[in-house]
Amino acid sequence: MKKIKYYFFLFPLFFVVTTFAQRKTENLVIVTLDGMRWQEVFSGADSVLLKNKSFTKDSSGSHKAYWTNNISERRKKLFPFMWNTIATQGQLYGNRWQGNKANNANRYWFSYPGYNEIFTGFPDTMVNSNDKNWNKNINVLEFINQQAPFKGKIAAFSSWDVFPYILNSRRSGIYVNADVDSLKFSGTGLQLVNEMQFLTARPVGVRPDIFTYFAAKEYMKAYQPKVLYIAFDETDDYAHGGEYDQYLKSGFASDAMIADLWKYIQSTPAYQNKTTLIITCDHGRGDFIKEEWKHHGSKIKDAGEIWIAAIGPDTKAQGEIKTNSLLYQEQLAATFAKLLGLTFTADHPIAKPIESIYK
Ligand SMILES: [Zn+2]
Repeated sequence: MKKIKYYFFLFPLFFVVTTFAQRKTENLVIVTLDGMRWQEVFSGADSVLLKNKSFTKDSSGSHKAYWTNNISERRKKLFPFMWNTIATQGQLYGNRWQGNKANNANRYWFSYPGYNEIFTGFPDTMVNSNDKNWNKNINVLEFINQQAPFKGKIAAFSSWDVFPYILNSRRSGIYVNADVDSLKFSGTGLQLVNEMQFLTARPVGVRPDIFTYFAAKEYMKAYQPKVLYIAFDETDDYAHGGEYDQYLKSGFASDAMIADLWKYIQSTPAYQNKTTLIITCDHGRGDFIKEEWKHHGSKIKDAGEIWIAAIGPDTKAQGEIKTNSLLYQEQLAATFAKLLGLTFTADHPIAKPIESIYK
Protein backbone atom coordinates (compact mmCIF):
# COMPACT_ATOMS: atom_id res chain seq x y z
CA MET A 1 0.00 0.00 0.00
CA LYS A 2 2.75 2.39 0.93
CA LYS A 3 4.53 1.56 -2.31
CA ILE A 4 1.51 2.43 -4.46
CA LYS A 5 1.07 5.83 -2.78
CA TYR A 6 4.73 6.61 -3.48
CA TYR A 7 4.30 5.71 -7.12
CA PHE A 8 1.29 8.00 -7.53
CA PHE A 9 3.20 10.82 -5.97
CA LEU A 10 6.19 10.40 -8.24
CA PHE A 11 4.46 9.88 -11.54
CA PRO A 12 2.88 13.35 -11.97
CA LEU A 13 6.05 15.04 -10.76
CA PHE A 14 8.14 13.13 -13.28
CA PHE A 15 5.62 13.97 -16.01
CA VAL A 16 5.69 17.71 -15.23
CA VAL A 17 9.50 17.81 -15.09
CA THR A 18 9.95 16.06 -18.45
CA THR A 19 7.27 18.21 -20.11
CA PHE A 20 9.01 21.41 -19.05
CA ALA A 21 12.43 20.02 -19.91
CA GLN A 22 11.33 19.21 -23.44
CA ARG A 23 11.82 22.56 -25.11
CA LYS A 24 14.56 25.06 -24.33
CA THR A 25 14.30 27.37 -27.34
CA GLU A 26 13.04 30.85 -26.48
CA ASN A 27 14.53 32.70 -29.43
CA LEU A 28 14.87 31.86 -33.09
CA VAL A 29 17.36 33.15 -35.65
CA ILE A 30 16.92 32.28 -39.32
CA VAL A 31 19.54 32.99 -42.00
CA THR A 32 19.18 32.37 -45.74
CA LEU A 33 21.90 32.31 -48.41
CA ASP A 34 20.21 33.09 -51.70
CA GLY A 35 20.72 30.37 -54.29
CA MET A 36 23.66 28.74 -52.50
CA ARG A 37 23.96 25.22 -53.87
CA TRP A 38 23.95 22.10 -51.70
CA GLN A 39 26.79 20.81 -53.88
CA GLU A 40 29.21 23.39 -52.40
CA VAL A 41 27.79 23.02 -48.89
CA PHE A 42 28.54 19.28 -48.85
CA SER A 43 31.63 19.04 -51.03
CA GLY A 44 33.17 22.52 -51.12
CA ALA A 45 34.46 24.16 -54.29
CA ASP A 46 33.72 22.43 -57.62
CA SER A 47 36.94 21.52 -59.47
CA VAL A 48 35.40 21.90 -62.94
CA LEU A 49 34.17 25.42 -62.20
CA LEU A 50 37.41 26.36 -60.42
CA LYS A 51 39.43 25.35 -63.50
CA ASN A 52 37.14 27.18 -65.91
CA LYS A 53 38.82 30.54 -66.61
CA SER A 54 35.61 32.19 -67.72
CA PHE A 55 34.00 31.48 -64.32
CA THR A 56 37.06 31.75 -62.06
CA LYS A 57 39.31 34.67 -62.93
CA ASP A 58 41.54 34.32 -59.89
CA SER A 59 42.29 30.65 -60.45
CA SER A 60 45.43 30.28 -58.30
CA GLY A 61 44.04 32.37 -55.42
CA SER A 62 40.78 30.41 -55.42
CA HIS A 63 42.59 27.06 -55.52
CA LYS A 64 44.76 28.13 -52.63
CA ALA A 65 41.81 29.32 -50.57
CA TYR A 66 39.25 26.61 -51.28
CA TRP A 67 40.79 23.53 -52.89
CA THR A 68 42.11 20.31 -51.45
CA ASN A 69 41.50 16.77 -52.74
CA ASN A 70 39.87 15.55 -49.53
CA ILE A 71 36.13 16.33 -49.56
CA SER A 72 35.71 16.70 -45.80
CA GLU A 73 38.66 19.11 -45.65
CA ARG A 74 37.51 20.95 -48.76
CA ARG A 75 34.01 21.74 -47.47
CA LYS A 76 35.57 22.87 -44.18
CA LYS A 77 37.71 25.38 -46.10
CA LEU A 78 34.63 26.95 -47.66
CA PHE A 79 32.21 26.65 -44.72
CA PRO A 80 34.28 26.35 -41.53
CA PHE A 81 31.42 27.17 -39.13
CA MET A 82 29.08 24.76 -40.86
CA TRP A 83 31.57 21.89 -40.70
CA ASN A 84 33.36 22.58 -37.41
CA THR A 85 30.39 23.66 -35.31
CA ILE A 86 27.05 22.68 -36.88
CA ALA A 87 28.35 19.30 -38.04
CA THR A 88 29.41 18.46 -34.48
CA GLN A 89 26.65 20.18 -32.47
CA GLY A 90 23.71 20.47 -34.87
CA GLN A 91 22.22 18.92 -38.00
CA LEU A 92 22.79 19.27 -41.75
CA TYR A 93 20.19 18.02 -44.24
CA GLY A 94 20.41 17.73 -48.01
CA ASN A 95 23.48 15.70 -48.95
CA ARG A 96 22.00 13.79 -51.87
CA TRP A 97 25.24 11.82 -52.31
CA GLN A 98 24.35 10.25 -48.95
CA GLY A 99 20.72 9.76 -49.99
CA ASN A 100 19.49 12.64 -47.85
CA LYS A 101 17.34 15.05 -49.83
CA ALA A 102 15.72 18.43 -49.30
CA ASN A 103 13.57 19.91 -52.04
CA ASN A 104 11.48 22.90 -53.01
CA ALA A 105 7.82 21.88 -53.02
CA ASN A 106 7.07 24.80 -55.34
CA ARG A 107 7.79 24.17 -59.01
CA TYR A 108 9.29 27.54 -59.91
CA TRP A 109 12.73 27.32 -58.27
CA PHE A 110 13.41 31.01 -57.90
CA SER A 111 13.43 33.45 -55.01
CA TYR A 112 9.97 34.82 -54.18
CA PRO A 113 8.22 31.42 -54.48
CA GLY A 114 11.03 29.90 -52.36
CA TYR A 115 10.85 32.48 -49.58
CA ASN A 116 7.06 32.32 -49.67
CA GLU A 117 7.32 28.56 -49.19
CA ILE A 118 9.81 28.87 -46.31
CA PHE A 119 7.67 31.34 -44.36
CA THR A 120 4.10 30.37 -45.23
CA GLY A 121 4.56 26.59 -45.35
CA PHE A 122 2.60 26.62 -48.57
CA PRO A 123 3.89 26.41 -52.19
CA ASP A 124 1.22 28.69 -53.60
CA THR A 125 0.94 28.46 -57.42
CA MET A 126 -0.28 32.07 -57.44
CA VAL A 127 3.11 33.13 -56.08
CA ASN A 128 5.08 32.73 -59.28
CA SER A 129 7.03 35.92 -59.93
CA ASN A 130 9.70 38.05 -58.27
CA ASP A 131 7.61 41.20 -58.75
CA LYS A 132 6.89 43.47 -55.80
CA ASN A 133 3.45 42.06 -55.05
CA TRP A 134 2.17 42.18 -51.47
CA ASN A 135 2.01 38.55 -50.40
CA LYS A 136 -1.58 37.49 -49.65
CA ASN A 137 -0.45 34.49 -47.60
CA ILE A 138 -0.05 34.74 -43.83
CA ASN A 139 3.55 33.91 -42.90
CA VAL A 140 4.81 32.24 -39.75
CA LEU A 141 6.69 35.33 -38.51
CA GLU A 142 3.43 37.24 -38.65
CA PHE A 143 1.68 34.39 -36.82
CA ILE A 144 4.39 34.36 -34.12
CA ASN A 145 4.11 38.15 -33.81
CA GLN A 146 0.44 37.70 -32.88
CA GLN A 147 1.33 35.55 -29.85
CA ALA A 148 1.67 37.57 -26.65
CA PRO A 149 5.32 36.93 -25.64
CA PHE A 150 6.55 37.67 -29.17
CA LYS A 151 4.56 40.78 -30.06
CA GLY A 152 6.88 43.48 -31.45
CA LYS A 153 9.86 41.18 -30.89
CA ILE A 154 10.34 40.09 -34.51
CA ALA A 155 12.61 41.67 -37.10
CA ALA A 156 13.91 40.87 -40.57
CA PHE A 157 16.94 42.34 -42.35
CA SER A 158 17.50 41.62 -46.03
CA SER A 159 19.86 42.68 -48.78
CA TRP A 160 17.14 42.26 -51.43
CA ASP A 161 14.43 44.90 -51.64
CA VAL A 162 11.52 42.49 -52.30
CA PHE A 163 11.34 41.18 -48.73
CA PRO A 164 8.89 43.80 -47.42
CA TYR A 165 6.47 42.41 -50.04
CA ILE A 166 7.26 38.72 -49.41
CA LEU A 167 6.69 39.16 -45.67
CA ASN A 168 3.99 41.74 -46.29
CA SER A 169 5.30 44.22 -43.72
CA ARG A 170 2.31 46.48 -44.47
CA ARG A 171 -0.09 43.87 -43.07
CA SER A 172 2.10 41.64 -40.89
CA GLY A 173 3.41 44.35 -38.58
CA ILE A 174 6.89 42.81 -38.65
CA TYR A 175 9.84 45.20 -38.79
CA VAL A 176 11.46 44.53 -42.19
CA ASN A 177 14.59 46.46 -43.13
CA ALA A 178 15.47 45.78 -46.78
CA ASP A 179 18.24 46.98 -49.10
CA VAL A 180 18.92 50.63 -48.22
CA ASP A 181 15.92 51.29 -46.01
CA SER A 182 17.09 53.93 -43.57
CA LEU A 183 18.01 52.65 -40.13
CA LYS A 184 16.21 55.23 -38.05
CA PHE A 185 17.68 54.37 -34.68
CA SER A 186 19.52 56.41 -32.08
CA GLY A 187 22.36 53.99 -31.23
CA THR A 188 25.82 54.79 -32.63
CA GLY A 189 26.28 51.30 -34.11
CA LEU A 190 23.09 51.46 -36.17
CA GLN A 191 23.82 55.04 -37.18
CA LEU A 192 27.26 54.04 -38.46
CA VAL A 193 25.84 51.15 -40.52
CA ASN A 194 23.22 53.54 -41.87
CA GLU A 195 25.86 56.02 -43.05
CA MET A 196 27.99 53.29 -44.63
CA GLN A 197 25.16 51.59 -46.51
CA PHE A 198 24.51 54.78 -48.47
CA LEU A 199 28.20 55.27 -49.34
CA THR A 200 29.08 51.75 -50.50
CA ALA A 201 29.67 50.96 -54.19
CA ARG A 202 26.93 48.24 -54.20
CA PRO A 203 28.84 45.80 -56.46
CA VAL A 204 25.82 43.49 -56.86
CA GLY A 205 23.15 46.17 -57.13
CA VAL A 206 21.63 45.65 -53.67
CA ARG A 207 22.89 46.35 -50.14
CA PRO A 208 26.09 44.33 -49.61
CA ASP A 209 25.48 41.46 -47.18
CA ILE A 210 28.01 42.81 -44.69
CA PHE A 211 25.81 45.86 -44.03
CA THR A 212 22.66 43.75 -43.81
CA TYR A 213 24.47 41.60 -41.26
CA PHE A 214 25.73 44.47 -39.12
CA ALA A 215 22.36 46.21 -39.24
CA ALA A 216 20.82 42.99 -37.90
CA LYS A 217 23.53 42.44 -35.29
CA GLU A 218 23.41 46.02 -33.98
CA TYR A 219 19.60 45.82 -33.87
CA MET A 220 19.90 42.57 -31.95
CA LYS A 221 22.23 44.19 -29.42
CA ALA A 222 19.98 47.21 -28.98
CA TYR A 223 16.51 45.62 -29.02
CA GLN A 224 17.00 41.88 -28.35
CA PRO A 225 14.34 40.51 -30.73
CA LYS A 226 13.04 37.03 -29.97
CA VAL A 227 12.86 36.12 -33.65
CA LEU A 228 15.38 37.50 -36.12
CA TYR A 229 15.62 36.78 -39.83
CA ILE A 230 18.66 37.70 -41.94
CA ALA A 231 18.44 37.27 -45.73
CA PHE A 232 21.76 37.39 -47.56
CA ASP A 233 21.79 37.83 -51.31
CA GLU A 234 25.27 38.04 -52.83
CA THR A 235 25.77 34.34 -53.61
CA ASP A 236 22.89 34.42 -56.10
CA ASP A 237 24.02 37.66 -57.73
CA TYR A 238 27.60 36.49 -58.28
CA ALA A 239 26.34 33.14 -59.59
CA HIS A 240 24.10 34.85 -62.16
CA GLY A 241 27.11 36.94 -63.16
CA GLY A 242 29.10 33.74 -63.73
CA GLU A 243 31.72 34.79 -61.16
CA TYR A 244 32.45 31.50 -59.42
CA ASP A 245 35.34 32.83 -57.30
CA GLN A 246 33.19 35.69 -55.99
CA TYR A 247 30.31 33.27 -55.36
CA LEU A 248 32.65 31.17 -53.21
CA LYS A 249 33.99 34.24 -51.40
CA SER A 250 30.45 35.35 -50.59
CA GLY A 251 29.56 31.87 -49.37
CA PHE A 252 32.65 31.89 -47.16
CA ALA A 253 31.81 35.38 -45.85
CA SER A 254 28.24 34.31 -45.08
CA ASP A 255 29.60 31.40 -43.04
CA ALA A 256 31.93 33.79 -41.19
CA MET A 257 29.10 36.21 -40.40
CA ILE A 258 26.96 33.31 -39.13
CA ALA A 259 29.89 32.18 -36.94
CA ASP A 260 30.19 35.72 -35.56
CA LEU A 261 26.43 35.78 -34.90
CA TRP A 262 26.54 32.42 -33.10
CA LYS A 263 29.44 33.66 -30.99
CA TYR A 264 27.37 36.69 -30.01
CA ILE A 265 24.31 34.51 -29.26
CA GLN A 266 26.28 32.10 -27.10
CA SER A 267 27.94 34.88 -25.09
CA THR A 268 24.82 36.98 -24.43
CA PRO A 269 22.60 36.05 -21.44
CA ALA A 270 19.34 36.83 -23.29
CA TYR A 271 20.22 34.30 -26.00
CA GLN A 272 22.77 31.85 -24.62
CA ASN A 273 21.65 28.21 -24.73
CA LYS A 274 18.07 29.22 -25.48
CA THR A 275 18.34 30.21 -29.15
CA THR A 276 17.96 28.00 -32.20
CA LEU A 277 19.65 28.96 -35.46
CA ILE A 278 18.33 27.67 -38.79
CA ILE A 279 20.23 28.25 -42.02
CA THR A 280 18.88 27.42 -45.47
CA CYS A 281 18.47 28.69 -49.04
CA ASP A 282 15.55 29.62 -51.28
CA HIS A 283 16.39 27.33 -54.22
CA GLY A 284 19.22 25.39 -55.83
CA ARG A 285 20.98 25.92 -59.16
CA GLY A 286 22.08 23.84 -62.14
CA ASP A 287 24.84 21.23 -61.89
CA PHE A 288 24.05 18.32 -64.24
CA ILE A 289 24.99 20.60 -67.13
CA LYS A 290 27.99 22.39 -65.60
CA GLU A 291 27.45 25.73 -67.35
CA GLU A 292 24.02 25.88 -65.75
CA TRP A 293 25.44 26.45 -62.26
CA LYS A 294 24.78 30.14 -63.05
CA HIS A 295 21.06 29.62 -63.42
CA HIS A 296 17.98 28.38 -61.64
CA GLY A 297 14.25 28.21 -62.40
CA SER A 298 11.93 25.40 -63.47
CA LYS A 299 13.85 24.69 -66.69
CA ILE A 300 17.13 24.06 -64.87
CA LYS A 301 17.62 20.48 -63.73
CA ASP A 302 18.70 20.30 -60.04
CA ALA A 303 17.47 23.84 -59.21
CA GLY A 304 14.73 22.54 -56.89
CA GLU A 305 17.30 20.97 -54.56
CA ILE A 306 18.05 22.74 -51.29
CA TRP A 307 19.76 22.16 -47.91
CA ILE A 308 18.91 22.94 -44.29
CA ALA A 309 21.18 23.39 -41.25
CA ALA A 310 20.06 23.66 -37.62
CA ILE A 311 21.76 24.19 -34.27
CA GLY A 312 20.27 24.93 -30.87
CA PRO A 313 19.36 23.54 -27.45
CA ASP A 314 16.53 21.33 -28.78
CA THR A 315 18.37 20.04 -31.83
CA LYS A 316 20.16 16.73 -31.28
CA ALA A 317 23.81 16.71 -32.30
CA GLN A 318 23.45 14.35 -35.26
CA GLY A 319 25.73 16.24 -37.64
CA GLU A 320 25.45 15.44 -41.31
CA ILE A 321 22.24 13.46 -41.78
CA LYS A 322 22.88 10.39 -43.91
CA THR A 323 19.50 8.67 -43.71
CA ASN A 324 17.59 8.04 -46.90
CA SER A 325 14.83 10.61 -46.57
CA LEU A 326 13.23 13.60 -48.26
CA LEU A 327 12.31 16.89 -46.64
CA TYR A 328 10.50 19.80 -48.22
CA GLN A 329 11.12 23.51 -47.83
CA GLU A 330 7.41 23.98 -47.01
CA GLN A 331 8.02 22.13 -43.72
CA LEU A 332 10.18 24.93 -42.33
CA ALA A 333 7.37 27.34 -41.38
CA ALA A 334 5.70 24.90 -38.97
CA THR A 335 9.16 23.90 -37.67
CA PHE A 336 9.97 27.54 -36.77
CA ALA A 337 6.72 27.75 -34.78
CA LYS A 338 7.23 24.38 -33.05
CA LEU A 339 10.70 25.42 -31.89
CA LEU A 340 8.99 28.24 -29.99
CA GLY A 341 6.26 25.95 -28.64
CA LEU A 342 3.62 27.10 -31.12
CA THR A 343 1.49 25.41 -33.76
CA PHE A 344 1.31 27.54 -36.91
CA THR A 345 -2.22 27.95 -38.26
CA ALA A 346 -3.46 30.07 -41.19
CA ASP A 347 -6.21 30.10 -43.81
CA HIS A 348 -4.07 28.11 -46.24
CA PRO A 349 -2.50 24.63 -46.10
CA ILE A 350 0.65 24.30 -43.96
CA ALA A 351 3.08 21.39 -44.31
CA LYS A 352 3.99 19.34 -41.26
CA PRO A 353 7.06 20.36 -39.23
CA ILE A 354 10.43 18.58 -39.30
CA GLU A 355 10.27 16.80 -35.94
CA SER A 356 13.89 15.67 -35.94
CA ILE A 357 15.01 19.31 -35.62
CA TYR A 358 13.20 19.95 -32.33
CA LYS A 359 12.47 16.54 -30.76
ZN1 LIG B 1 18.60 34.18 -58.82
